[in-house]
Amino acid sequence: MPIQFFETPPVRRVGVIGWPIEHSISPAMHTAAFEALGLHGWHYDRYAIPPDIVRISLREFRDHGFVGLNVTVPLKEAVVPFVRPDEVALAVGAVNTITFRGNEGTNTDVRGFIDDLAAHGVAVAGQPVVVLGAGGAARAAVYGLSRAGAVVHIANRTPDRARALFAHMGLPERLIAPDAIAALGPALVVNTTPLGMAGGGEPAALPFDPAALTTPTVVYDMVYRPAETPLLAAARAHGHTALNGLGMLVRQGAAAFSLWTGAEAPIDVMFAAARAALEPR
Ligand code: NAP
Repeated sequence: MPIQFFETPPVRRVGVIGWPIEHSISPAMHTAAFEALGLHGWHYDRYAIPPDIVRISLREFRDHGFVGLNVTVPLKEAVVPFVRPDEVALAVGAVNTITFRGNEGTNTDVRGFIDDLAAHGVAVAGQPVVVLGAGGAARAAVYGLSRAGAVVHIANRTPDRARALFAHMGLPERLIAPDAIAALGPALVVNTTPLGMAGGGEPAALPFDPAALTTPTVVYDMVYRPAETPLLAAARAHGHTALNGLGMLVRQGAAAFSLWTGAEAPIDVMFAAARAALEPR
């Protein structure tokens, strides 16, 4: 009997770096997508990288032939000097996806968020919208929303941080107090603060009270753990549309997946894997 040779597919490594990283559901999402498309040889793993060794770590990943990386808290800003950031990453000031071919850094959080709004039929062009918070996630939201033609306001605990955000993006400074949001009649209110996050300390805390809203509003919470935050529960109870951040997470992952593999991401497979990974064991 002739010897049969089976060709082993070349190993293609990708992953996510952060500190800490053990709660990331990205490996589950990407692994399911590789399997669904028969992309044998692709591996996605999580790597805990302390911020003080991010530069040398990136070099190690690159030298070991990694195709790319996702980057999460608290490293999204720290990696910017060590890659070639594209226009979106520069505007947001943060990179969440690196492709080592060309050493390019981009920010697919923007696309993940905007694609998720579109998938839910949320139209923002010409509409007043409010972003709660002014950190990294807020920068992605403000950039995406302003590019989509929305009139963006920010409510943040530290107003100077919101001012700096508007200045960095060359946008008019529109600060708003939480108790003035209802009078604005916003089409959309986006929570980008960690308030309401499981394990976040104050599970019942609301970044603003949707009970005051008098016009139909989409309330989007970037938090997805728990699936229904106190903010979303309150919004729903008052008849508003409530969306959590899982769609954003999956869609930013899908955009990174396509950048690395050149294949269209199987979104439904990624959603199912993400939901399964979030279920309590
Ligand atoms: P960050 O850079 O630390 O910014 C956090 C923001 O929340 C700051 O503006 C901060 O206000 C505000 N904040 C924090 N604690 C607060 C409190 N107790 N009361 C009022 N405001 C408070 O964090 P980030 O990277 O933007 O992430 C924020 C959240 O978005 C996290 O829960 C993260 O998991 C989520 N996220 C989700 C996705 C997704 O795909 N769904 C993507 C990115 C991020 P100050 O400026 O006053 O400190």
